[in-house]
Amino acid sequence: MASSLLKKHSPFEDHATFLLPDPPSSPATLRNLKFPFLFSFIFISSLCITCFTFLDVSTSFFTATNTSLLSEHGPAVIILSFDGFRFGYHLKAPTPNIRRLIASGTSAEEGLIPVFPTLTFPNHYSIATGLFPPHHGIINNYFPNPADPSDWFSPSNHDPKWWLGEPLWQTVARHGLNAATYFWAGSEVKKGFWTCPPKFCLKFNYSVPFEERVDTILGYFDLPKKEIPLLSMIYFQDPDSEGHMYGPDHPEITKAVANVDAVIGRLISGLEKRGLFEDVTIILLGDHGMASTCDEKCVFLDELAPWVQIERDWLECADSLLAIRPPSGVSSAEVVKKMNEGLNSGKIGNGRSLKVYLKEDLPERFHYAGSGRIPPIVGVVEEGYMVKYKREKRYDCGGSHGYDNLLMSMRSFFVAHGPRFERGKKIPSFLNIEIYNLVTTILGLKGAPNNGSASFPDSVLLK
Ligand SMILES: [Zn+2]
Repeated sequence: MASSLLKKHSPFEDHATFLLPDPPSSPATLRNLKFPFLFSFIFISSLCITCFTFLDVSTSFFTATNTSLLSEHGPAVIILSFDGFRFGYHLKAPTPNIRRLIASGTSAEEGLIPVFPTLTFPNHYSIATGLFPPHHGIINNYFPNPADPSDWFSPSNHDPKWWLGEPLWQTVARHGLNAATYFWAGSEVKKGFWTCPPKFCLKFNYSVPFEERVDTILGYFDLPKKEIPLLSMIYFQDPDSEGHMYGPDHPEITKAVANVDAVIGRLISGLEKRGLFEDVTIILLGDHGMASTCDEKCVFLDELAPWVQIERDWLECADSLLAIRPPSGVSSAEVVKKMNEGLNSGKIGNGRSLKVYLKEDLPERFHYAGSGRIPPIVGVVEEGYMVKYKREKRYDCGGSHGYDNLLMSMRSFFVAHGPRFERGKKIPSFLNIEIYNLVTTILGLKGAPNNGSASFPDSVLLK
């Protein structure tokens, strides 16, 4: 359970860390509070709900000139991210394509470890930048500007002031080369050398069929050699949607996983038709896992009133993660003390499943301090439990994520196939901030400073 995990030393504490400053705050704006329809549906039951969900290009005919060399700059990499693909899901359904890539490639034997909090936007952007959330700035799926509480970050906000660090597509562009993004978190943000070119940077549209997404990427390999993107990063919202609705053990998950596998098969066969399957690197991964949740596993903050009155407008997030910013004049330390007294009193329903910290007192392995965007008080909830302000309705059973990133249920998968990956190799689990250096090494590019370890690529890649 999460509480015992909190006490363990993490093997991941020795990464070089550095702080990137928060950008200057912008004038107050209400536009950031208006979530477009496409994102509003994800407010299933909470303030900071954990999920994020985001051309018709027919497959062009194959041109023989592209078979010998993918691009003039070297091998190409395609990264496919499947939201909420919990580690082990591939064993739930017939997944011949994932299994084929595992057998003929390299995979993380016990899954890919997400960063804390195990939420979609922080993790997708950590994969893209190699940075922990306080350093890349996306510390939650929704959060306010600490300098201006009316100015909120939301997934559809593409103002570069929120998105720090240098994501992979920007690194590729910095080298004067083409990268392609298809709905990846942060990819529509124009910054540095990345202009989000319409041809290679598609605007989020949840309803684009998965097959169309894959066919678009495949179509890039029919372009003249020097135009082929060196890197393509593509996002799929499944099986996260099904995980939230039904929980991780429902037959609907099995169906969603089989569907995901078929999409991967479409990519493989499209590359095979072009004679490129052995030359292109395919990386399959996910942002986080999924845990079962149910109504009887809720903590209601209003029950703490005899110890401390938490006001609703202090809450920046309450679900699988609790984030509280009391107003000035209220001592955060005193609030934490009183909350923990109440939670440990035995008089609060499920109280002991929630542990509340001043953010600077969080275990170091969370790497969740050092940014003013993280509010002063953070509550960590045990697996499968949820925090709500008060009981307002029955909460259906389903699934959630956002919990401690060392929980097995929060892990996703990592499978890589390509010229630099040994066949049938199993590697130990690793944090997803290592992906950035792995990809820049394969592409032969000089990466930006990040929290990954410089030695990681050599421990995984063939020379
Ligand atoms: Zn989700």
